[in-house]
Amino acid sequence: MDQRLVAGYIKFKKSDYILEQEKFTQLANGQHPHTLFIACSDSRVVPNLITHAKPGDLFIVRNIGNFIPPYNDQDNFAGVASAIEYALYKLKVKNIVICGHSQCGAIASLFVEQKTQNKSYPHITKWLTLGHPAKEKALKEKPNATIEEIKEYTEKISTLFQMENLLTYPHVKELVEKNELHIEAWHYNFKTGEVVAYCKEKKEFIPLEEFLE
Ligand SMILES: [Zn+2]
Repeated sequence: MDQRLVAGYIKFKKSDYILEQEKFTQLANGQHPHTLFIACSDSRVVPNLITHAKPGDLFIVRNIGNFIPPYNDQDNFAGVASAIEYALYKLKVKNIVICGHSQCGAIASLFVEQKTQNKSYPHITKWLTLGHPAKEKALKEKPNATIEEIKEYTEKISTLFQMENLLTYPHVKELVEKNELHIEAWHYNFKTGEVVAYCKEKKEFIPLEEFLE
């Protein structure tokens, strides 16, 4: 057993758990998270940390690239779709946040030449096709940008493509149209600690602070 995990648990049990004990007891009666948070599996992205959320606040889906496959009622073992269904039908979350991030390995790999990609990663190769539309758009819109700028732009606009995919789920579309569900696209820069979010009126990503009412 990796001792970092055991030591971390012991620390949690002695400090954090004690502080939140009452909350955990309450949560045993059920969870009522306000947001379905869809983030990358990247270890540098910690949703609860950047939103200052407590246990019970966020229902979280994480995968490589924070991608959302389009709706497909034939799909077996659909992990993301199952989480969306549960979050909406059972938990009745009011928000969905799709959070991209800086230096995303999934987005960076979209720019690696096909011939150098490892053939032992069939799942990753298929999964990454969900990022292709964003990559194509970025290359088209930023012909003179550096590769780093293009990657960052792709990280951002990919969240908008994932939002489009999310809207192919009939229940999501219905709730959004009734104004009972809000979908947000974020980009988190873990180096600077800054989050920008897509503003539908301005049609651009702006600092999250500007959404403070
Ligand atoms: Zn990532």
